[in-house]
Amino acid sequence: MNSTETTRILLAALLGLTAAAANLLGGSLIAHRKWSRQFLKYFIALGAGFMLATATLEMIPESLRLRSDNASIFFNSTNAVFVYVLAGYFLVHFFEHTVAPHFHFGEETHHEEVHGAHASYAALMGLVIHTFFDGVAIAAGLLVSTWLGGVVFLAVFLHKIPEGFTVSSLMLASGQSRRAAFASSAILGAATLGGMALMFVLRSTVADALPFSAGVTLYVAASDLIPEVNREPGAGMAVLVFLGVAILLALKATFRVQ
Ligand SMILES: [Zn+2]
Ligand SMILES: [Zn+2]
Repeated sequence: MNSTETTRILLAALLGLTAAAANLLGGSLIAHRKWSRQFLKYFIALGAGFMLATATLEMIPESLRLRSDNASIFFNSTNAVFVYVLAGYFLVHFFEHTVAPHFHFGEETHHEEVHGAHASYAALMGLVIHTFFDGVAIAAGLLVSTWLGGVVFLAVFLHKIPEGFTVSSLMLASGQSRRAAFASSAILGAATLGGMALMFVLRSTVADALPFSAGVTLYVAASDLIPEVNREPGAGMAVLVFLGVAILLALKATFRVQ
């Protein structure tokens, strides 16, 4: 293992642990609901804009570039990038909203809908699959460049605290203990680390994993987070989405090497 590789693994471990810790922080916020509600909404709105911009302006173009270098071990057509994006998008739709009867981001207040083990465990499984690909996305980004890994990490990080909060409020609403609620946010953190570790092991699939995780990112941003933004009255939250896009553009103008 050369020193660049060691640095990359250390950076990956640092980013992965930070993302997992954000899940745990979100899970623990359930005990301080009052002040945290507003603060979580800001993260959801900023995260939605930042994630959409990262997926469309960084992850998909980078996937097309990898493809033109013949880096894929499965398909070499550039069209395959869009097939993967669509497949990643629908994977989350299937597990979060087809298998799980009731799931949405933000605080779970519909006790009737999630009562009983099936509904809450199905939603947890959907989130585990989504968070696994959060990890795959960060690691795939890092395998391409530090820049890509860095912005994908930020995209993931911005929705990690609301994600931890979402899962623990879901567990509480379904009648489970506070301990189980917190443990479920830890499971999401672990799934993220698992996704990162597997991506590093199966690094030869990066040209396939990157567009697939871009599709997952698009779903989380456009179909999980944006609906929560749109439920808010007034234009304030909607404006924050644009701020999320602007932050990515500003980072790109400042740090993107090319
Ligand atoms: Zn609900
Ligand atoms: Zn996520």
